[in-house]
Amino acid sequence: MKLTFAGAAGTVTGSCFHLEAGGTRLLVDCGMFQGLPELEARNLAPFPFDPAKVDWLFLTHGHLDHLGLIPRLVREGFRGRGVCTVPTRDIAHVMLMDAARIQEEEGEAALYTAADALAALDRFVVQIEYGEELELGAGITVRFHDAGHILGAASVEVRAEGKTVVFSGDLGNRGKPLVTDPAYPPKADVLVLESTYGDRHHPPFEESVEELRRAIVDTLAAGGNVVIPSFALERTQEVLYILFHLWRERKIPECRIYLDSPLATHATRIFERYTERFPSPARKLFRKKRDPFDFELLEYTLTKKDSKRISEERGVIIIAGSGMCTGGRVLYHLRDNLPRPESAIVFVGFQAMGTLGREIVDGASRVEVLGSVVPVRASIWRIEGLSAHADQPILVDWALHADPGQVFLVHGEEPALAALAERLSAHGYAARIPAWHEAVVL
Ligand SMILES: [Zn+2]
Repeated sequence: MKLTFAGAAGTVTGSCFHLEAGGTRLLVDCGMFQGLPELEARNLAPFPFDPAKVDWLFLTHGHLDHLGLIPRLVREGFRGRGVCTVPTRDIAHVMLMDAARIQEEEGEAALYTAADALAALDRFVVQIEYGEELELGAGITVRFHDAGHILGAASVEVRAEGKTVVFSGDLGNRGKPLVTDPAYPPKADVLVLESTYGDRHHPPFEESVEELRRAIVDTLAAGGNVVIPSFALERTQEVLYILFHLWRERKIPECRIYLDSPLATHATRIFERYTERFPSPARKLFRKKRDPFDFELLEYTLTKKDSKRISEERGVIIIAGSGMCTGGRVLYHLRDNLPRPESAIVFVGFQAMGTLGREIVDGASRVEVLGSVVPVRASIWRIEGLSAHADQPILVDWALHADPGQVFLVHGEEPALAALAERLSAHGYAARIPAWHEAVVL
């Protein structure tokens, strides 16, 4: 077997792994690189395999850094079968069409068009559930396991040539309201493990909810706005769920809450189709027809005109994308609110190197937004316990259950990869950190 690290090697984005076993070639994810310009340049680099010869594409979940290059893959000849879970298929549709729209706005530099995105979605002909076994022929089987990261997310287990190779995908945090805890993996000969928060310990969820509450109460009392840059998938719905509870329990003042993101709005409509997959308290809430995605304080602003109107308001909560402030409507709200000492910017997710979000959380005193330089006077909050990613203790515990013969650490920045490798070595597992496009024979 030969495994090639086509992406997410030494970085958190661009997830793409190519496995060749017997005569069969399969891919796990085909994601976009995001962040630093030298990383984004990789989106144009030739794949280290021939797309036309790939038989199967297994998609772990619907985040752009896992699926964003599939339209390019198809345009360059991929005609194999795509496999994902049922919710991931719905999410992929929304994410790829949105990515294509953004690409088309780039003009000449566009990686693909909406037509390419639709052609990519047509490849996803197989939907499987967690635990179901798929036979690829030639003695190769694949199973998905619940990765507990976002709705529909999976780890992928491949059995071929007498070996079990497990790709963790993105692993979730535990104790989250809208997504189940990650399922333990089977015993693995080879483990490809994500490392996003390989050097962190997340604070407990309840502590993070309390921090969010404090940010809101303080900011509204000062007459400022609370701007929450949020990922459209999972995090936005989770923030809405938390705000719904804080409001019902009268822990925050009555105020307008705007979800100012068409993408997050579409994603929320998908979540409403799968409430039966939520953990028990949230599932029961929806069964009682109480909808934390539709309550009286909350307004979805779909048009640009509605979005602009928010600029004139004070004492409101604004949830807008993109989550790392690399584009989208959050930029207008940052331009307006960063210079206001009474406002707050509340980060609830990972900020990759090279992004505006990272600059702000790293303490920049002024930043460039939409072509103008603005001072950072708003209070900056970084709430880590809402993360959709496992922290070091969860990653290590999960890896120990796989008891792997070999471990490759991917999907992390250098300090996280190094720290996780060190923890695993303390448990007797020598982990390798592969380079971009490196290939290994298993
Ligand atoms: Zn993800």
